[in-house]
Amino acid sequence: MKEIACKLLVIGAGPGGYVCAIRAGQLGIDTVIVEMAKPGGTCLNIGCIPSKALIHAADDFHGAVAMAAGRNAMGIGAENPAIDLAKTVAWKDGITGRLTMGVSGLLKKAGVKIVVGRAKFRDGKTVAVETETGQQVIRAENVVIATGSAPVELPALPFGGKVISSTGALSLTEVPGRLAIVGAGYIGLELGIAFAKLGSKVTIVEALDRILPLYDAQLTQPVARRLSALGAEVLLGTKVRGMSATGEALLAETGDGEEKRISADKVLVTVGRRPVTEGWGRQELELDMDGRFLRIDEQCRTSMRGIYAIGDVTGEPMLAHRAMAQGEMVAEIVSGKRRNWDKRAIPAVCFTDPEIVSVGLSPDEARAGGRETKVGQFPFTANGRAMTLSSEEGFVRVVARADNHLVLGIQAVGTGVSELSAAFSLAVEMGARLEDIAGTIHAHPTLSEAFAEASMKALGHALHV
Ligand code: FAD
Repeated sequence: MKEIACKLLVIGAGPGGYVCAIRAGQLGIDTVIVEMAKPGGTCLNIGCIPSKALIHAADDFHGAVAMAAGRNAMGIGAENPAIDLAKTVAWKDGITGRLTMGVSGLLKKAGVKIVVGRAKFRDGKTVAVETETGQQVIRAENVVIATGSAPVELPALPFGGKVISSTGALSLTEVPGRLAIVGAGYIGLELGIAFAKLGSKVTIVEALDRILPLYDAQLTQPVARRLSALGAEVLLGTKVRGMSATGEALLAETGDGEEKRISADKVLVTVGRRPVTEGWGRQELELDMDGRFLRIDEQCRTSMRGIYAIGDVTGEPMLAHRAMAQGEMVAEIVSGKRRNWDKRAIPAVCFTDPEIVSVGLSPDEARAGGRETKVGQFPFTANGRAMTLSSEEGFVRVVARADNHLVLGIQAVGTGVSELSAAFSLAVEMGARLEDIAGTIHAHPTLSEAFAEASMKALGHALHV
């Protein structure tokens, strides 16, 4: 048994943990990080990056199919487009491989010691890791729990065989002819739209009466229309019961009690993610919980002195950039700096077609808070760049206080709007007013002009609509 001591021990090398460890190393803190799988966690290996790679490949293929069918207004043609999904997966694995190697390199460059294995607390200051070469005991002044999240499994549809999670969907080497998806949240819809573009007959089953419940209906309507245009069927208010006895079909029941039998080659279950709060010795500690998550304060401190928690294990929104922001902050706090962060400015981006972005409050949320608001909305039909991209669906919407024009929230739906999220977050984080955005010169022709125009509209003088 080997023993080491350090000032900071990070458990889990996902975006939360690895960013925390890199920043701590940069600050000269003696840091150890333990990871039982691959550096980069869910996000780099089986989440954000591989899903966006698949979405990009699906977009290219779908565009080529449209060209081959003569459905291309620009006059571009193509013949017999084909996709070899095994090659697509190999290409995607190449990207994740480069990124995870990059993370290992950055950790080493920052002087962080990497220990490979499963970490388990013995007490609040001691963690034992089962490594390939035996047990390693690590004593630490401070510990950061960054164990992330895992897909929720439905008792009626356990993973295995044709029932797959997002991880399985991202490794398929053949496009399933019929793909049933359970859950119309962002992961299910991002993957569902990608597979519909790759040629699968997609059926989405959702227990609620709407898709993407985190966003308002105005933002999700263009996505619903796109799903329909791609031939995907969406069964709302429908609960899954399990697989048929032969395993050929997914069984479900609508709100009216009508039985549905959905023949499927694969059943993708995306009904949410659960925080990983087991498997690392939580029972040895006295950590307060906040429902299913670890309870933390504004500085990510748990209820035990010297133990912090960050990322998906600490609550919603379960997003990589939230985990990273928390990780960076905790490293700085451990180094003695005073740090805080502004939760209001966390962007939520849904990489569906079209994409959706939301930062801060929606008009309904702002009104529910009792505020008088000014709302400006500018459509991409009036934006030159959107026309040149053949993507005129969608809009940018700005929500501001009526009295002093302080921007409370910004939302957009449209092709490529994920890249506008940086400007939206900056505006909310810096406390911009409508006049600041309207008065900023936005490059022409860009989609971002719709942001300035939406702000002008809220002020009552949009130029191009
Ligand atoms: P994770 O990334 O889950 O990392 C936790 C790490 O801890 C894992 O590597 C795990 O092996 C390790 N670990 C756990 N227990 C132990 C232990 N006992 N000992 C050692 N190691 C341990 N987010 C976005 O912001 N944008 C997106 O576009 C996006 N797309 C997504 C698409 C999909 C398909 C999925 C599944 C998720 C997506 N997410 C996205 C969510 C994002 O991946 C997570 O929010 C993010 O990875 C959370 O980071 P984390 O550091 O908290 O945990």
